[in-house]
Amino acid sequence: MGELSNIEQSAVERAAAEPMLDQVLEWSALNSGSRNLPGLERMAAVFADAFSVLPGRLELVDAAPVEAVDAEGRTIAIEHGRNLHLKVRPEAPSQLLFTGHMDTVFALDHAFQQTRWLEDGVLNGPGVADMKGGLAVMLAALKAVESNGMADAIGYEVIINSDEEVGSLGSAALIAEAARSKRAALTYEPSALPDGTLAAARPGSGNFSFVVHGKSAHAGRNPEDGRNAIVAAAELALRLEGLIRDGLTVNSSRIEGGGPSNVVPDLAVLRVNMRPRTPEIEAEAKRQIEEIVAVVAVERDVAIHAHGGFGRPPKPMTAEMEKLFGLVKQAGADLGQQIGWKATGGVCDGNNIAACGVPVVDTMGVRGGKIHSMEEFLITGSLGERAALSALTILRIAEGRL
Ligand SMILES: [Zn+2]
Repeated sequence: MGELSNIEQSAVERAAAEPMLDQVLEWSALNSGSRNLPGLERMAAVFADAFSVLPGRLELVDAAPVEAVDAEGRTIAIEHGRNLHLKVRPEAPSQLLFTGHMDTVFALDHAFQQTRWLEDGVLNGPGVADMKGGLAVMLAALKAVESNGMADAIGYEVIINSDEEVGSLGSAALIAEAARSKRAALTYEPSALPDGTLAAARPGSGNFSFVVHGKSAHAGRNPEDGRNAIVAAAELALRLEGLIRDGLTVNSSRIEGGGPSNVVPDLAVLRVNMRPRTPEIEAEAKRQIEEIVAVVAVERDVAIHAHGGFGRPPKPMTAEMEKLFGLVKQAGADLGQQIGWKATGGVCDGNNIAACGVPVVDTMGVRGGKIHSMEEFLITGSLGERAALSALTILRIAEGRL
């Protein structure tokens, strides 16, 4: 253990003593799959109740309208649950942002709905690590900070969104607005590795739907009059794959469309995910996508509409970001925790926060692993550990040490 002041020591002890395990057990028993709207509404009410012990103004905010393209190429509206938004001391000199998500990847009809102990101290369950455990850690840290004389030096906003696991399209604007002019942000995704290692640089991620309209014709009588949308979509997929290089992944994941074998298909929808490592590569990829779409449209004589975009901008490590990581590392060292970090291929709301120019550590949540699978686990001893780490980090930012 390193040097902790008396104030720090008491906050750290208080954070670690919060009833986080009980909360995780209760919160994981409620299904909050990303588009389970009734479940998310119940979950939001539970979080509103839990977070109302903090001062400030708490509201549940409607999700922004989101559109998607269906298998027939039509634009449809997608509904998301409400997002929790808490604003505390907006007049304080130093402002922070805390974010987490209430949704999980496990839909209401998924087989994974219950928690069980794998062994002493290791809990298996939907969202125990990603991220109901993280939300318990965030709340414990904030309660400890609030019980402390230093709290008045900082103000903050908390956002718990309902659609992180499906790209945060209904909450991205709310997060961007809250991130504005914040000193730093902490997001409570689980650590990148079960040993507590934080996620540092992240690539960006974009999801695209290309709707290809060709022309149908008889496959035997007059195929030359047809314009095959499936073949055009396949060519689009091949050309997009040609963009793959160091710093850019391209994954064509699905082609929908077509019909009977004797008809030239006039409609196809191609779905693609692309992950650029840097903003420069993202900008270049955008340009190249447009070019490829234009070339395939002309060569195949089809109409192509591109929907979607890079909803998660790349999160490179900046000097400011390094400084925040350094502060967390030092807090860890003073608590006897060794904190390292590494780049990862995953994306989260930390990407969107970083794109607002705000330094963010987005894996302040629990230690655990196998997330997004039925083997998801939480190392329950990490609840107290990480709550102490967060509380100390926040106090030190409040002291102006960032
Ligand atoms: Zn998550």
